[in-house]
Amino acid sequence: MRTVIAAVIGSDASGSGAVRWMGPTEGPPAVLINVATLAQEPIGHARRYRVEQERVSVPDVAFDQEISGEVRLIRSERGVLVSADLDLLPVSLECARCLETFDAPMHIEFDEEYVVARDATTGERIERDQDEFVVDGTWHLDLSEAVRQYEESALPIQALCRPECRGLCPVCGQNLNEATCGCDTAAGNDRWSALASLAEQLRDQEMRDGPSEA
Ligand SMILES: [Zn+2]
Ligand SMILES: [Zn+2]
Repeated sequence: MRTVIAAVIGSDASGSGAVRWMGPTEGPPAVLINVATLAQEPIGHARRYRVEQERVSVPDVAFDQEISGEVRLIRSERGVLVSADLDLLPVSLECARCLETFDAPMHIEFDEEYVVARDATTGERIERDQDEFVVDGTWHLDLSEAVRQYEESALPIQALCRPECRGLCPVCGQNLNEATCGCDTAAGNDRWSALASLAEQLRDQEMRDGPSEA
């Protein structure tokens, strides 16, 4: 069970706002957004928050990040639609060409609906799927899992430290961004072209002699 420890940030006059909760692990508390008031307002009502260096975390998968940017909340039929535009802390990646690690700036944007357990005004249960984001029983929503998923999909499949990275010398392994090595890298290409012309010769021979008996 988590306990509320501190301040309301970015709160509006009606008392909705982001609150800090202390999680069970050490480190700064993860941020939760209180939507108790918004959930009782008509569909289409909106709030806009500025978040500055707030922590998000999914302890089960050891995910920790920090978010800064803008979060817009719109009351929807089944809960709250969250539109987020966030800068995250840079992520350390390994360059696919030179194998050096480098810090990649991370930015994510998403629109996701957080579904409430029951309607705030009628008390009626709201049907929801297992994989939907939810507003918890105390009218808080946690951006952590959405940030984790969107960060994951924002990671490049082939990370490059810079678009023009020159990679490693295939002969001696020298990082060619740092120095040139004088290796004859054309040798590799020569070997391939030698093979290619050998293959061509064999094909020609086959054409002349007919398929060889195995
Ligand atoms: Zn590189
Ligand atoms: Zn080399």
